[in-house]
This record gives sequence, C-alpha cells and structure tokens, in this order.
Amino acid sequence: MSDFAPDSVAFATGHYIGGEVVQAGERIDVARPSDGAAYADLPIADADIVDRAVASATKAVAASGWASQPPRERARALRRWADLIEERAVELGRLEALGSTRPIAQAVTGDVASVAEGIRFFSEWADKLGGEVAATRHDNLGMIVSEPYGVVGAITPWNFPLSMASWKVGPALAAGNAIVLKPSELTPFSTVRLAELAVEAGIPAGIFNVVQGNGVVTGDALSRHPGIAKLSFTGSTRTGIAVMKAAAETGIKPVTLELGGKSPQLVFADADLDRAAACIAGSLLANAGQACVAGSRLIVQRPVMEELVARLKARLATVAPGPTWKAATSYAPIISETQARRIDDILERSRLQGAECLLGGTRIEGHGGAFYQPTLLAGVTAQTAAVREEIFGPVLTIQAFDDEAEGLSLADHPEYGLAAGVYTADLGRGLRAMRALKAGTVWINRYSRTLDFILPTGGYKSSGIGKDLGRQAV
Ligand code: NAD
Repeated sequence: MSDFAPDSVAFATGHYIGGEVVQAGERIDVARPSDGAAYADLPIADADIVDRAVASATKAVAASGWASQPPRERARALRRWADLIEERAVELGRLEALGSTRPIAQAVTGDVASVAEGIRFFSEWADKLGGEVAATRHDNLGMIVSEPYGVVGAITPWNFPLSMASWKVGPALAAGNAIVLKPSELTPFSTVRLAELAVEAGIPAGIFNVVQGNGVVTGDALSRHPGIAKLSFTGSTRTGIAVMKAAAETGIKPVTLELGGKSPQLVFADADLDRAAACIAGSLLANAGQACVAGSRLIVQRPVMEELVARLKARLATVAPGPTWKAATSYAPIISETQARRIDDILERSRLQGAECLLGGTRIEGHGGAFYQPTLLAGVTAQTAAVREEIFGPVLTIQAFDDEAEGLSLADHPEYGLAAGVYTADLGRGLRAMRALKAGTVWINRYSRTLDFILPTGGYKSSGIGKDLGRQAV
C-alpha cells in the first residue's frame, strides 16, 4: 500500500438518484478528520428530494424486473458488483480513507475487501428465500411466501461508512428490494461511489439510491416517508429512539436498530493474560475505539489485575497516529473536534467522580485533526460517567471482581448489551458466562469480528432490535 495525496482523489458530491448524481439542496462543508480541513461541500436533501429518491426507487422496482427476474440473475449482478468493488479496491479505499477515520492500509485490505465478500455472501441468498408450506389440515394447502418489501430505507453512521452501507444494501438487494440510503453527513462520499459501481455492474439504475444530508432534515424525512416499507438504522441510541418514533408516526413500518454499546471485557484469573491483553488492546486501538462493539469496560479478577494492566500499558504505550492517507498510519483520528470534546468532557466528569488515569487521558497534539491517547481509567464504579456512557474513543475503564457472580454482575450494563468478551481457560465457565451475559455477541478468548458473515450482529436492551448480517438480516 502506498501513500496518496488527499487532493488527488476525485468523487461526486451530490445525491445519487435513479443512476444520476443530483445536485439539489442547501450545502454544508465537510471536513477531513485527519487534518480538519474542509475539502468538499454537501447538499442537504429536504423532504422533496427524499421523495424524489423514494419515487425513483419505487419506479425502478416496478419497471426494472429487479424483484421479478430469476433470482440467480440478481445474484449474478450482485457478484459482478462485488468483483468490481475488488477491482477498484484502491480507488474506493482512498475515498474512504480521505473522508473518514479509516487509515488507507486498513480501508483497502480490511473494509473494502470485506464489503466485496459481504455482498457475495448476501448474493447467495437470492434464490434461497422461498418460504414454507404450513402444517395445515391435510385437505388444506397453506403457503407462507417470502416477499421483498419494495423500497427499504437505510441510515448509516460515520465510523465504518462503506461496511455499514454494505450491511444494509446487501440483504435488501439480494431479496429483490430497492434501497434509499442516507450516509452520515460526516462521511458521505464513498457511499455514492459504491452505488455508482452497482450501476456499472449491471444493477438497474434506481435500485440503489443515496440521499445526502443531516439527521434532522434528511434522516427524519426518510424515516417518515410513507413509501419506505422497512427502515434499517445504525447509529446512537438517542437517534435510534427518534427514528423509531418518526417511523411510527407516519404509518407502522418495521424498524431494525443497531445502536450503541458499552461492552465488557471479563477476564478471569485463569486466562491466558497475554492473549487477553492482545485482544483487549486490539479492540481499544481499532478505529481508536470508535466502534459500536468496542470492549470499553475491563472487569478483571483481582489477583491478575496488576499483571494484566501492566501488559495492557505495554501494548498501548506506542501508537502510530497520522493522516489516513499515509500507508504507515495505523491509529485513527477522532472523527471531529465535537467528538473529541465529548471525550474530554466524559473524562473530566469521571475525574471529578474520583477516576484516575493510569495511561493517556489527553489528546495527541501536533496533528491538524484530533487524536486521542489510548487511555486507562481506574478508580471507577458503576456510577462513573466513563463506565455508564458510550464514549466512542480509546478509553478503557478498569474494575476488579472477586468471584464469578460479582464479575457477571459488574459486566451487566443497565442500558447497553451489544457485545462482550470473556477470557478464561475453563470452557464451562466461558459457556456459563456466555449464557448469563445479556449481549448480542459474546466472544470467548478473542474479541473481533471475522469474515463469517453468517454470524448476525445486534443488541439487547437499548443496543437495538433486529440484526445485521447472517440469515437474520436477509
Ligand atoms: P448518530 O446517531 O449521530 O447518527 C447516525 C445517523 O443517523 C447519521 O446518518 C445521522 O445523520 C442520522 N441522524 C441523526 N439524527 C437523526 C434523526 N433525528 N432522524 C434520522 N436520522 C438521524 O450516530 P453516529 O455518531 O453517526 O455513529 C456512532 C453511533 O453509532 C454510536 O452510538 C455507535 O455505537 C453506533 N453504531 C452502532 C453499530 C451497531 O452495529 N450496533 C455500528 C456502528 C455504529
């Protein structure tokens, strides 16, 4: 992977409706996270433009044969799209890196590669969604038929723009729907390129539309639109609540919500501490903690606490921050100054509640954009701000426990239940913890997603309803 010049990347700045870039609406500046420079402006789709996109999708479903064609044709088009994404991996990865927190090396070999493979995974469902014959009286015949919704609406966050888009578009298109997707206004441009490549691969124009804009205008209009038959949202819990309300106020439509997390890392004294330290540090450093499943609360059995913290410090002491367009950069910037201030604020309130920084706790200076040091926070309780609130930054709180029951009780968060890590040499204990923890994903002696797209992801409690990935998403 090589460095690239940020000004060398060309991209469309508009909406993408019916296979065309559309410039309409008031415009706002968009900044690069790496250096804070405004590098493009973005139109905000109002309700009329959202309506235009939904009309284009509705027309495309009816006119293009996308839903009615032999499903294997649809699968073939999706596979061609995946191949094209792979062919253009560097181009797409550069656009992703330019405007988001994803360093170029990770964007190309991680994000874009997994987008292509994920679309292949979903393509394979196209002709496997038949339905069933019901167990009725034997002189009746009742068929339960799976049907596409028609037009699906999707709203995505800024932290993994291409991946989050593909998790919504893949299942929707495989099942024969059209989609209108609103990316985050902080990271808007790569999604349009993804949609352009879909059309280039032979997916009919109007099947994948993108409306650009902020949440309160564009996101709200999309959530309320009566032509959207199903809504899939990924973002914060607060916004998820607003989206669900808006969707319900304008006619009932099913809503999938992938929301925030405050995931525990539960380490028992018999664990392989080196492995645990590697997994926990890896989760904290990945996208600088700006991941929904970030394992941000360490809950460790008292006898090994000191040793584990020492190993974590060693792994977290050196990071390689830099602009996302440098191949050597592995440590991501914080998405915006606003988000960096939010991290400052939670740390400040936690310190006032008695928390003590064992490592980090401040920004990394000397870069145009905001970067944060990996931070270890001890002296916390379940009431400390940093333990209660999703931070979305590289901050790990540390709490000790004595026995299994206490560990499980500390791991349980009153609001969130997205993911959890359990580290132990005792398989029985690992499985007991897996059953006890109210989390959509429990990893044992590891902490990261794999390319096993068949595994769904989603949350308990206020971490969401419904699933992305897996057959559940389809
Ligand atoms: P956010 O809630 O601020 O925004 C998410 C999206 O919603 C953006 O596109 C935004 O423009 C839009 N939006 C904002 N207000 C809206 C409104 N009133 N109506 C409709 N749309 C609106 O979240 P974010 O800061 O972009 O992303 C970070 C959050 O996303 C974190 O809480 C993180 O945990 C969560 N997330 C969850 C998952 C998951 O799979 N559970 C994955 C990634 C991120």
